[in-house]
Amino acid sequence: MTQKVAVIGMGQMGSAMAARLRDSNFDVLGFDLSADQRARLTKDGFRMASSISDALADRSIILTSLPDPKAVSEAWLGTAGIVASAQKGALCIELSTIDPQTMRTVAEAAAARGVAVVDCPVSGGPNEARSGKLILIAGGELSDITRAEPILQRLGAEWKHTGGVGTAKAVKIVNNMMTMGNVLVAAEAFALGVAAGVEPQKLYDVLSVSGGRSHHFTKRFPNALKGDFSPGFKMELGEKDLALAIELGRAIKMPTPSASSSRELYALALAEGFRGQDIVALLSMYQNWAAPTK
Ligand code: NAD
Repeated sequence: MTQKVAVIGMGQMGSAMAARLRDSNFDVLGFDLSADQRARLTKDGFRMASSISDALADRSIILTSLPDPKAVSEAWLGTAGIVASAQKGALCIELSTIDPQTMRTVAEAAAARGVAVVDCPVSGGPNEARSGKLILIAGGELSDITRAEPILQRLGAEWKHTGGVGTAKAVKIVNNMMTMGNVLVAAEAFALGVAAGVEPQKLYDVLSVSGGRSHHFTKRFPNALKGDFSPGFKMELGEKDLALAIELGRAIKMPTPSASSSRELYALALAEGFRGQDIVALLSMYQNWAAPTK
């Protein structure tokens, strides 16, 4: 029987995952808070509901892909939100990058209404989501993850179990702390190399095969060299993830000086007008600083 799936939060990731599931013969209904986004996606052929409760009316599987902890709390716990509207016995797969405590709070509220939850942030971007090549990080009861498997298998190359609900969010936060730091140092280093007189493509050709390279350097810098800063992964999400890492450190009283200084630079990029652009636009910020002053 065709499984009925709702996707709440149809942004870059949610809509890419919805498209992947739709093409894999799931019956997919989406909802996004933004009326503009709902209209755009309807035009692109997605089936969109006009509220969370409409989206969940006859759905046994609910995916959420939302920007931050506040959006997750509102969508899950709000009046006529997911916890209030989900059918008893439904399974929710929470895919956002948020803090472990918010994840546990919404999962407990859902469990109290007989709704099972898998904590499942993802590694990989919209292209990987569209082609089913995400890495899925799964926290929760193994029996719930097993129930989620038909979905996880379509979205990802593999999934890894990290422990109870909340543990997958912690893993995702520290992964992204590494990612943001990687891209930041690469942008600073690359801008310095160019300012020192090396032709950008020649610099890339060497750095992309040398010891300092990273996954995100070879994935994102070719776009930057073409002047393409469209997201991908938005600058504001990078700043949010670093803030989550700092908050996680504060909660367990561990210093995170590298996350703190990285967050300041992402915040600076936002203040300098790079909101909405891919995190590789950090390179533009550094290149502006490298411009010779007369
Ligand atoms: P996005 O900003 O493109 O999409 C988020 C969508 O959620 C928006 O369309 C927004 O209108 C909608 N939304 C906000 N509040 C809502 C609510 N209360 N109810 C319903 N919809 C609501 O962000 P994205 O890039 O799709 O990222 C989504 C999540 O996945 C984030 O937590 C992000 O950190 C994480 N993530 C993103 C990537 C990536 O490469 N983009 C990769 C891995 C994880």
